[in-house]
Amino acid sequence: DHVIAPVVILGTGLAGYGLAKEFRKHDSETPLILITNDDGRSYSKPMLSTGYTKNTEATDLAQSDAGSMARTLKASVWTMTDVVAIDTDQQMIKVGDAATSIHYSKLVLTVGAETIKPPIAGDALDYVYSINDLLDFDDFRKAVKKTGAKKVCVIGGGLIGCEYTNDLINGGFEVETVDPLDYCLPTLLPEVAGKAVQRALEEKGAKFHFGPLVTEVNKADSGVVVTLNTGATIDADIVVCAVGVRPRTELAKAAGIEVNRGIVANRLLETSAKNVYTLGDCAEVAGHVLVYVAPLMAGARALGKTLAGEPTEVSYAAMPVTIKTPACPVVVNPVPRDAEGEWTVKEEGNNVTAEFRGPDGGLIGFALTGEGTKEKMRLQKELSPIMP
Ligand code: FAD
Repeated sequence: DHVIAPVVILGTGLAGYGLAKEFRKHDSETPLILITNDDGRSYSKPMLSTGYTKNTEATDLAQSDAGSMARTLKASVWTMTDVVAIDTDQQMIKVGDAATSIHYSKLVLTVGAETIKPPIAGDALDYVYSINDLLDFDDFRKAVKKTGAKKVCVIGGGLIGCEYTNDLINGGFEVETVDPLDYCLPTLLPEVAGKAVQRALEEKGAKFHFGPLVTEVNKADSGVVVTLNTGATIDADIVVCAVGVRPRTELAKAAGIEVNRGIVANRLLETSAKNVYTLGDCAEVAGHVLVYVAPLMAGARALGKTLAGEPTEVSYAAMPVTIKTPACPVVVNPVPRDAEGEWTVKEEGNNVTAEFRGPDGGLIGFALTGEGTKEKMRLQKELSPIMP
């Protein structure tokens, strides 16, 4: 008998480990290898932005180490290993210095999304932190302790920027947040809802600078000085950069796999290369790039079956997003950019219920803040699935 080549999963985030768990429900025999360039600890990434609120360190967020995951999954987990190339004809991947090759029967790219680095000049860029995984989180917490930082400048007032703003305030820090657009969560919320979040955070002590771009971060006598393109400056001890993420596509692209905004996949999560699949933040599934947990869980359930020999297309229900700004809780079902329709808004203090309906009256999206979030179930039921 010939040896069966393993199923190989690149990445051990919620997508990689989530898929491995689903696959093992249907196939407990096929050799399985997971490869990651981090330490392979299993953790819930959304918890990164509640670290101060819940007083959790990296070790608290880590649910299992790579060794325990390997035993549970009956898999081999390679940590601190960079995958540098994929040969889709030979069905081989090259790792590390490219001296090691692994043959795969099926390969799944769950390499996630990377943080966007805005063009910022200055001599204090090592004070600027992006907190996008558990190791980043650990680095940031250690830097805060080491420098005794009390004042944080957050670059970005979107989902991640507002979550960190709220979390840092809960941690007792003084926080100033900069965003080039006009209000909180500007790409997700209509103005009335974004302003409610802004007011609620300001009531807790946050200070916002809407309109300008950050151009420089330089060392100061104590801490850093952040310069805006208006010429204004902000003094801070440390900086968090949270301007957004983009799917990691380079590895796939270099291998000749079709990429667009993300790694292109159909509803079977197949890429353009034979026996290569993709899932999670790096994937563009039937045109949808959704960098959230619910879609990757739906994908993991379908792909787990597909890899076990039962081809299964992924379905996406409507999946409203909960934003972790406890000063003013938010639930939003974003409105697609090209959607036709209008908002109807009920506003009472920081409690907003905003519904976006199409010309036929059908609900397309909504934005709820504060007490408005109680309307979530009612409205969610009214939404059509993203992909039935
Ligand atoms: P990742 O977790 O990024 O995993 C990628 C893996 O690939 C890692 O193991 C990495 O080491 C590995 N890798 C990458 N390149 C290589 C390579 N070349 N070789 C080897 N390994 C490689 N979503 C929600 O739904 N709700 C929330 O409340 C929420 N809050 C969030 C808060 C924060 C602060 C952040 C940053 C995100 C939040 N999200 C939230 C988004 C959610 O966390 C992500 O959608 C999800 O974790 C993505 O998982 P993933 O496995 O696709 O990617």
